[in-house]
Amino acid sequence: MGARTTLRLYNTLTRAKSDFVPIDPENVRMYVCGPTVYDFAHIGNARPAIVFDALFRLLRHVFGEGHVTYVRNITDVDDKINARALRDHPGLPLNQAIRLVTEKTETQYIEDAKALGCLDPTVQPRATEHIAGMVAIIQQLLDRGHAYVATGGEGREVLFSTGSMADYGQLSRRKLEDQQAGARVAVEAHKKDPSDFVLWKGSAADQPGWSGPFVVDGKDASIFGRPGWHIECSAMSQHYLGEVFDIHGGGLDLIFPHHENEIAQSRCAHGTERMANLWMHNGFLQVEGRKMSKSEGNFVTIDDLLHSEKLGGRTWPGEVLRLAMLMTHYREPIDFSVKRLEEAERLFSRWPVAEADGAAPDASVVEALADDLNTVAAVQALHALALAANADPARLPAFAASAALMGLLPRKSEVDEAVASAVDALVEMRLEMLKAKNFAEADRIRDDLLARGIQLKDGKDAATGERVTIWEVKR
Ligand code: AMP
Ligand code: ZN
Repeated sequence: MGARTTLRLYNTLTRAKSDFVPIDPENVRMYVCGPTVYDFAHIGNARPAIVFDALFRLLRHVFGEGHVTYVRNITDVDDKINARALRDHPGLPLNQAIRLVTEKTETQYIEDAKALGCLDPTVQPRATEHIAGMVAIIQQLLDRGHAYVATGGEGREVLFSTGSMADYGQLSRRKLEDQQAGARVAVEAHKKDPSDFVLWKGSAADQPGWSGPFVVDGKDASIFGRPGWHIECSAMSQHYLGEVFDIHGGGLDLIFPHHENEIAQSRCAHGTERMANLWMHNGFLQVEGRKMSKSEGNFVTIDDLLHSEKLGGRTWPGEVLRLAMLMTHYREPIDFSVKRLEEAERLFSRWPVAEADGAAPDASVVEALADDLNTVAAVQALHALALAANADPARLPAFAASAALMGLLPRKSEVDEAVASAVDALVEMRLEMLKAKNFAEADRIRDDLLARGIQLKDGKDAATGERVTIWEVKR
């Protein structure tokens, strides 16, 4: 085996690129903050899904498919979810209404991600399945003097004491004093420090809650309640990846407070120097210079893009959005427009449909990706491979393997899944006609498909000798 490719990746923690050296090359471990499942994901949310899928694929290529564990969580406990459940299912008991909202949204998210060419992460844990792990971490923080119980406006809470951590703020490079001076955090009298944040908060009878059997100084301090936002990722990452793991990712907006606070919780609970060695953040997808977000109201859902005609009066295949995203480096902002989708589609239309047949991805693409996931250079290299393959069919497999590495392999069904199944049905019908010796009708189907750019190829099954027909999109 040749030398393993060295990846150089930018680390938000150090603000520099460095060689990526996994803790255990037999099991490279990555955690990415996933969606809060109360509503359809928009195409800004698609960016981390695509960016970290590209990284996942690269890691699998370099370290081996079975040697990468990628965890992306599902946040299914959140006050936004409660509000949505009350709005959409006012007649139902809250728990049931919440389950309806979260299950539907989660299924939708997983479908969306698939349509964008993303592999399933190794695990997609739900926060509500890890409440015990969260309670355990909170108890450790209480025991180690990093957390305290206080009564705020909405009842009793367990808060993280930021003043108890000497180097709180390392990731975002904020100093506690700056935050106080800037008064960005509303002063709440029950907090020892304005930047202290909630680990656990009490729930009223009509809110979702779990028993929180905390003990402070040997005395019962239990609070029936629900977790704060940050603690879930500390619990789930520890469960699947251990106290210290390799890569933690998410969008730029998560650096503060979410990732800063995850780090504070995990490091202080476990007494470790690091939570993850490498922190990676994707830039925003913007519309006219503003971050696409629910609150700005400037969003297009992934589902809209795929299935409605809201963007440019037509639907778009998932891989076109994927390519449009990867045509910008992950740390740069993307100014999103229909024009970008059209550009990506034009590029795509010049790429051949091909099979990798066991070929290795071309070094030009691997090297580009190894340089801090430079997908811009990788797409350029891929395009050059595509043009070379168009001229010389012997080069098709290398192109296909390289495209597959980026999750960008044009498929026969690139036309659209729906069209593909319609073609399959017609091919099937033609085989029936041939069996019935209705050759005129069989030929008519074949010619109709050809006129639509779909070529049928008849062959024989080696084992049974029966006729089999495959089809491809003619270029
Ligand atoms: P949220 O559901 O808002 O917690 O976001 C889920 C993920 O999408 C997080 O990693 C966010 O950082 C990311 N994200 C949200 N909006 C955008 C955007 N406009 N561009 C890029 N990433 C985003
Ligand atoms: Zn998180």
